[in-house]
This record gives sequence, C-alpha cells and structure tokens, in this order.
Amino acid sequence: METRDVVILGSGPAGLTAAVYTARADLRPLVIEGEPSSTSDQPGGQLMLTTEVENFPGFPDGVQGPELMEAIRGQAKRFGADLVTTRATRVDLASWPFRVWTAQGGDAEPAVETKALIVATGAQSLMLGLPNEGRLLGYGVSTCATCDGFFFRDQDIAVVGGGDSAVEEALFLTKFARTVTIIHRRDALRASKIMQDRAFANDRVKMRWNAVVEDVIGDNKVTGVRVRDTTDGSEEVLPVTGLFVAIGHEPNSSLFTGQLDLDAAGYIQTAGSSATNVAGVFACGDVQDHVYRQAITAAGSGCMAAIDVERWLDHRAHAG
Ligand code: NAP
Repeated sequence: METRDVVILGSGPAGLTAAVYTARADLRPLVIEGEPSSTSDQPGGQLMLTTEVENFPGFPDGVQGPELMEAIRGQAKRFGADLVTTRATRVDLASWPFRVWTAQGGDAEPAVETKALIVATGAQSLMLGLPNEGRLLGYGVSTCATCDGFFFRDQDIAVVGGGDSAVEEALFLTKFARTVTIIHRRDALRASKIMQDRAFANDRVKMRWNAVVEDVIGDNKVTGVRVRDTTDGSEEVLPVTGLFVAIGHEPNSSLFTGQLDLDAAGYIQTAGSSATNVAGVFACGDVQDHVYRQAITAAGSGCMAAIDVERWLDHRAHAG
C-alpha cells in the first residue's frame, strides 16, 4: 500500500485549494474527491449545485459554480495533485500513518496510508425533499442568501424555516427583494428574540405561519410555491420567484465520529488554525465552519490547512 505525505478528503473550494498549495509545496497530494451528487456529473462540493457566482474575487463578470470548480481542479492537477473520484468510507486516525479506506478500494484493505490528512468534506444544506426542489436549485431555489440575494432585486420571494438562519437570510434579502415571506411550519419562530424583533419590525418581511411547502413551481425558473396550511389543510400558491431553503445545515463529519472532536452540531473543532485534536489531521472549509460558509472563506481555510500540513511535516521530519 502506498504511503502519501498528505491525503485530502473533499474537492470543494477548501479541498482543492489545499491541493494547489500542497502540490506546489512538492507534497504530491492525493485528493479523494468524493462522488458526484445526483444533480451534477462531477464531485466538487456545493458550488457544483450553484449557477452564477458573483462574489468570488477575480471574476468581475461572475462565473458559473461548476466552471470555477473545474478551474481550481485544473490548477491543482497542473502542479501534480492526484485526484481520485471516490468516497472515503472509513478512516483510522488512532495509529500513524493514518489509514483511509475508499468505496473504490473496498472494505478489506485501506486504499492509502498518509502522514498527514486534510479533512475538507464540507457540509450540506438540509433540503425539504420537494418533488421539484432539486430541478430548480440554482433557478430560483437557493440555500444561500449571501450568494444569490442580488438576483432577486424588486421581486417577491420566500424563505422557509423558523430558526436564526431563516430570519437572518430573510433580513438580508430585504436589501434586494420587494417582499420576503417567511414560511414557517409553526406559529412561533425558533430564532432568537432579537432576530425575531428585527424581522417583525421590517415591513418588507411577511410571515406565513402554520404552513408547509408542498412543492416549488416553475418550468425553467421558480414562479410560485405551493403551501399547505397546517391548521385547516387548505392549499394556495404564493406567487414568488425565489425560495430560500434555510432549515439548517449538516456537516459531512460522520466518518470522524469518535476520532475527531466534534461540536454539538457535528462540526469538526479546530484550535487556532486548522489543527484538530489529532496531531497531523487538519480540517478546513464548511466541515469546521458554521459561521461564514462561503466559497472564498473555504478556499482561504484550505490554504491555511495546506500551510499547517507543510509546517507539521517539516517539524516532524526535523524532530526525527
Ligand atoms: P435551526 O435552529 O435548527 O432551525 C431550523 C428551522 O427550520 C426551525 O425553525 C425548524 O422548524 C425548521 N425546519 C426544520 N426542518 C424543517 C422541514 N423539514 N420543513 C420545514 N421547516 C423545517 O437551524 P438554523 O436556523 O440553521 O440555526 C442553526 C444554529 O446556528 C442555531 O443554533 C442558530 O441559533 C445558529 N445561528 C445563529 C445565527 C446568529 O446568531 N446570527 C445565525 C444563523 C444560525 P421548527 O422550529 O418547527 O423546528
């Protein structure tokens, strides 16, 4: 079995930026990319599910999410990163070098051993599971107000959820949209009091209480949202052109349960930089960040993890 200096799990902006940096440091990284999602033909994280990205520095006219990921992928390869399209199924961080099993390599033997590991497995937005939600993702359905709010100037849109994320997204969206309807399945928000007060004080925010979204409507882009009232069962179509799903996120960290320190919500805990509780294991991107969740912050933290790995390997080599 091959022993690598560094293996990177994940191929979003964090993982691939870590790949660019570790490749340029001559560490010949192996990127275990993950597998394509149901709506894209390549792995590459959440940006593969996005259309236009307008806030990644360096692209004054915007760039398509998948195009951006393909460019970073090409950049990583150019400097010698090896990429394999499979998913890590198990890791052993208790002994060193660390061992990683993959779907492609099977259960019997680890696919690779590595001196350092960068975990960049990301997070996923929880989705409602509506019939047309996946098809219209990027075409009016969004999971990121910061990314997509700009496209809804002077439009009537909706946010589903009742927590701090939903209220925060709704308030942010009022900068662009004419009205933002928060659709919540109960008659009280879960969000903190201060956020609730801000929402209720904003005359662009409307509340649709006791309502569940049954489906999102539209051929090529969203034209409405069908909601069902939970008190009397009646249905109506809200004529909105955008639906922001803000019902929570889930970090892709189950592989590390019991081996890395996770917080209560499952995010990998990092101390100071990208270091985890296991020396030689570093984490970057959305799997350890529930605050910023941006492509550029993920990329930045991927760079940090790569530099941390380089220094850690160097230190270890000199320590004998
Ligand atoms: P959250 O607090 O878990 O809220 C999720 C919301 O989505 C809840 O209102 C829940 O309804 C609703 N929901 C869940 N599944 C649903 C479904 N299938 N259909 C319809 N609605 C559904 O998640 P979050 O808002 O992402 O916040 C996560 C954590 O980050 C929280 O601790 C939050 O305080 C924190 N946060 C803080 C800030 C801030 O301080 N500025 C901003 C964002 C997040 P129910 O209420 O009925 O359960």
